[in-house]
Amino acid sequence: MHGSPARRASGSMLGAVMADSGGVWRHRVARIVVHPSDGVHEMTPPTPDYAKWERLKRLTYIVDSQVGKGRITGPSLSDPDSNGVRYISSGATTQELVEVHQLVYELGLVSPEHNWMDHEFQGRPDVRELDLGSTGLLLTGIFRGDRFIDGLLVAKVREGLVQDLCRHAYALTLTVDGWPSHLPVLADGTLRTGIVVRSLSGRLEGRTTGGRRDCPSRKCKGWLIGVHWCDGQRLHICSEGWHYDPLTDEIHVVGGGEISARFVSPKPLGRDPRPKNEWPARATLLKSRAWSAATGSRKKQ
Ligand SMILES: [Zn+2]
Repeated sequence: MHGSPARRASGSMLGAVMADSGGVWRHRVARIVVHPSDGVHEMTPPTPDYAKWERLKRLTYIVDSQVGKGRITGPSLSDPDSNGVRYISSGATTQELVEVHQLVYELGLVSPEHNWMDHEFQGRPDVRELDLGSTGLLLTGIFRGDRFIDGLLVAKVREGLVQDLCRHAYALTLTVDGWPSHLPVLADGTLRTGIVVRSLSGRLEGRTTGGRRDCPSRKCKGWLIGVHWCDGQRLHICSEGWHYDPLTDEIHVVGGGEISARFVSPKPLGRDPRPKNEWPARATLLKSRAWSAATGSRKKQ
């Protein structure tokens, strides 16, 4: 069974991303050792920036859908004007792609120290086989190379490679075997009941039912968790489409349908919320197992 994430999350282990002196990014599991008797040796590894990683994961799904709608395009030649002159148009980008660009730098995925020309690649790499260092080098090659090769970034975004690399870096940094490293699993393999879940827009709220199992989708290495939504529906949502925030102890849908977190094709994106006039009364919800669990929002530290 998948016992290790649970042990790792509940013990004193913290996953962390660090750069060694050569600027090489590694994924490490650091142990915090505190010796109260001599008052020294307290090691504090950098805490992953959960908010930025969450935002990056959310943006990759938005960018996927923008690519699908043709909103991200590369440089192209315009139709000839009345004098027969064609102009080069620089293509279209979106605010979300600009934000991805900013975040890959802020999260240290793109390293300004590396010569991007050393990290050109042939063909499409098998993203799942990459470690964090190689993932960062490929992103560096794309984002820095784009300054010299017009249209490189857009081409790799339209292939979906940039989004895949960003989500892979997220998984390597914040998960173990696809499960959030800081979300404890109970001894019987289930999840705590009553954890607050927020829908994609943040407008709907749910509670975890405790259910947890491997995502049955063949290509997916995520986990399904049971959620009892405030509209009365009970769904199993895949971790590929949600994020766990250890600071607020909340689960946030970041991709796919509003409450289904379902993003895999073919559409539709799973079940939609019910109309508000069909929602159960709050008092009825509070009598259910998931909603009556006294988890509240636990504040860490
Ligand atoms: Zn899945």
